[in-house]
Amino acid sequence: MEALHYDLCVIGGGINGAGIARDAAGRGLSVLLIEAEDLAGATSSASTKLIHGGIRYLEHKEFSMVRKALKEREVLYKNAGHLIWPIECVLPHDENQRPQWLIRLGVWLYDILAAGRSLPGSRFIGLRDTEYGAPLNKGYEDALIYSDCWADDTRLVILNAVDAAARDAKVLTHAACEKLEVVNNRWRVTIRDTRSHDTLAVTAGMVVNATGPWVGRFLEGVGISGADPDLPHVRLVKGSHIILPKMFEGDHAYVLQQPDKRIIFVANYQGEYTLVGTTEEDFDDDPRNARISDDEMAYLIDAFNASFDKQISRSDVIFAYSGVRPLLDDGTANNSEVTRGYRIYHHKRYDPPFLSVYGGKLTTYRALSEDVVNRLMRLSGRNEPGWTATTPLVGGDFEEDNFDVFVKKQIRRYSWLMHDVVYRYARAYGTRMDYFLSQADGLHDLGIHFGDDIYQVEIDYLLTFEWASDVEDIIWRRSKMGLHITEETIRNIEEYINSKTEEE
Ligand SMILES: Cc1cc2nc3c(=O)[nH]c(=O)nc-3n(C[C@H](O)[C@H](O)[C@H](O)COP(=O)(O)OP(=O)(O)OC[C@H]3O[C@@H](n4cnc5c(N)ncnc54)[C@H](O)[C@@H]3O)c2cc1C
Repeated sequence: MEALHYDLCVIGGGINGAGIARDAAGRGLSVLLIEAEDLAGATSSASTKLIHGGIRYLEHKEFSMVRKALKEREVLYKNAGHLIWPIECVLPHDENQRPQWLIRLGVWLYDILAAGRSLPGSRFIGLRDTEYGAPLNKGYEDALIYSDCWADDTRLVILNAVDAAARDAKVLTHAACEKLEVVNNRWRVTIRDTRSHDTLAVTAGMVVNATGPWVGRFLEGVGISGADPDLPHVRLVKGSHIILPKMFEGDHAYVLQQPDKRIIFVANYQGEYTLVGTTEEDFDDDPRNARISDDEMAYLIDAFNASFDKQISRSDVIFAYSGVRPLLDDGTANNSEVTRGYRIYHHKRYDPPFLSVYGGKLTTYRALSEDVVNRLMRLSGRNEPGWTATTPLVGGDFEEDNFDVFVKKQIRRYSWLMHDVVYRYARAYGTRMDYFLSQADGLHDLGIHFGDDIYQVEIDYLLTFEWASDVEDIIWRRSKMGLHITEETIRNIEEYINSKTEEE
């Protein structure tokens, strides 16, 4: 590996690193993407999963950021229709919170900023005797409904990495960058295998630090922060979600205003559950140690109970997850008001280009990646234009312009397979599902059945093409089946993976 040289080394396999690697590989650069743990193992699998303009940022007058994010919502929905879909957001009116005229103004502006887009515009409804009003407590009389999109955040990362690899990028997981130094006008990147602890070194013409909430720690760790007074500051803000049994019918989400002016989302999740989040708590530990605190748990439970007829307690919480937002610190006192925009910082002290990414949102990862690679193109005297706005993400290239039509076609094509399994594959893999299904004529061709409709062909595919290396990678990130399957199924998959590893 010492002899290996890449045009670009991207450090960090979250949504931004994977997006940058994909974009750069598509512009002809030889790319190495390294991730210290698993792809999407950090912030990018712990989001609220909204691809949105961010209606609440209008209150902070972030009009151009909201407009940019709404444009991206449309681009992503068109190019990754398997992973991203529209969702109705129901904002019940609470007379103790923002006045109705202000909410109406905000939603009207949101519609205008999204003008010309394919999602339905907003509407005002009475809640009485509607499915929207049914689960809420009777204090609410009316609501505004507006549109946003919902995404499988983890698979968005994984499929960006798959797309990058399909364009010849090299992707290494469990590979942490330990040292960066300039040798003979190139970057020498020392990489440690975080499981075996072996190290290796490669060289790269350019480096991008896309380590999300680690952006500052990374620079300190590799010894190149410090002396630069212009370095942006990052504010780490933990956010947690809780998962409950399904609390209401319908595919919509509720947007609930809180007494502290924050907003809490309550959405049905994976068909059988309800997701409630998120909180905002200052955080100064290693982002890997982010866990829900007692205060956050109580806050989310109280927020739910204040709006819904059904009342919950801690014993109803099935699962909780937390992530750390790497916010670009703009000096604002209140965490909710800190910008969700991003900044790309060029470390000009070094001759070979080196950029660090600060801030951002899942929603704007493609635009951020394009900005980063445009910058790299200029810095390296290259001239390849951006391409990701008009090219489907891998798996999103179905001929039908609509995901539902694609699913129906796949159900007809694989008529011997249970419809809900076809649907799950179509959502997770899009057209890539044909990789492991196209040779099969019946269930007998899918290999071992591990339980809960999980078959060997899918596991083999994930191990071979998506860098999965253990059962956690498979059930919590690449498939999100963790909540639905039995201990026995998990054990069966684990034993299978172990037997394959021993064979190798
Ligand atoms: C609670 C919460 C809710 C959110 N909800 C939304 C939402 O609904 N919509 C939205 O648009 N955005 C949302 N966001 C924001 C969004 O999730 C983040 O902006 C985005 O995921 C950040 O991605 P990233 O790639 O920068 O960071 P990460 O996903 O954290 O990736 C950074 C990666 O770098 C790796 N790394 C660190 N150090 C090294 C090293 N030395 N070598 C190699 N790899 C390294 C880490 O292991 C990690 O995987 C939310 C964030 C949070 C926390």
